[in-house]
Amino acid sequence: MIDQNHYATILRNRLTELNARLSEVETELDKPPDPDVEERAVEREGDEVLEGLGMAGLREIRMIEAALDRIEDGTFGTCVACGDPISEERLNLVPHAARCRNCFEG
Ligand SMILES: [Zn+2]
Repeated sequence: MIDQNHYATILRNRLTELNARLSEVETELDKPPDPDVEERAVEREGDEVLEGLGMAGLREIRMIEAALDRIEDGTFGTCVACGDPISEERLNLVPHAARCRNCFEG
């Protein structure tokens, strides 16, 4: 039996961290454009990187929230596709994993 509280703590900490990082990204994106034209091109590239980070972060947040829901439901650690238990080895690497390794790779 896996220790759900252990993973709940990890997932909540990760969620807090991601939310903090995302609000930093938003603050950066909200900055008014630099009046210097040459600076602006560089800034635009930076914005794309930041937006990319934001997208990846949002996706991870959604997966973590889904994992926390599964902890509430008592289905955490069970593959959503085949119903087999997800190995702790995998959960230690990817605490928000919804599928076992076989289903994820298949
Ligand atoms: Zn599976």
